[in-house]
Amino acid sequence: MPDTAIRLHVADDLATGRHIALDGGPAHYLATVMRRRVGDAALLFNGRDGEWRARIEAMARGSCALVVEARTRPQADGPDVWLVFAPVKRGRIDDLVGRATELGVAALWPVRTERTNVARVNAARLRANAIEAAEQSERLTVPMVHDYLALPALLERWPRERRMLWCDESGTAPSIADALARASQPLRAPWAVLVGPEGGFARSELDALRKLPFVTAVSLGPRALRAETAALAALACWQALIGDWQEAHRHGS
Ligand code: SAH
Repeated sequence: MPDTAIRLHVADDLATGRHIALDGGPAHYLATVMRRRVGDAALLFNGRDGEWRARIEAMARGSCALVVEARTRPQADGPDVWLVFAPVKRGRIDDLVGRATELGVAALWPVRTERTNVARVNAARLRANAIEAAEQSERLTVPMVHDYLALPALLERWPRERRMLWCDESGTAPSIADALARASQPLRAPWAVLVGPEGGFARSELDALRKLPFVTAVSLGPRALRAETAALAALACWQALIGDWQEAHRHGS
């Protein structure tokens, strides 16, 4: 039996004895890509019931049936940090979503700014990338994907208790390490990281962001980073300074 554990996200409820039917992509992945056979095990999670070991009981062309055996990990919530980002080109956005998922984001929120050239965002595709990264990174949850909104609408709807760590490339903001060290919120308070588009934020957007009480502007050093680099660097700092990298465990969500 192959020894690399396969982890799959499913929508179904998970409990001992439940039968799970897979088709489409997941069935193809299990049978053709990973060459699993009847009797092999796979790990399943749904974001609610923890992680479960299941056994393949039947396989047919394009479909696969599993029976759930036992729970391998209880459900746990991950750190409460969102990523708000101006979408970049296809391919690069897929990668950003996957890597941010590995870094533990609880939600992904694409935002249209004045200098964003992307008219539409394929939310289903973002979710598929998030699921794949959640499966591979041993998460127990999949980040939620918010609707693509224009920045003013997003800011209007913003839950005020959630701090927004705004990656500000102007050179005037304090370093992210200083800003997070000073953060008055308790460690588990909700946060979000905000990064702008390739062309940066427009003047009016900078002015609006500066006035908002829930926004903390931070610098990521003297170099101009690509939006994706900035997003991942900020998330890594957040995780190391106030997130779950401070805890010596590996099986968080
Ligand atoms: N302003 C530049 C590039 C924007 S980079 C231009 O006009 O071409 C895209 C986004 O990455 C920025 O809006 C900012 O959110 C983030 N970013 C890039 N480098 C940064 C840095 N050194 N510090 C903080 N944020 C940065």
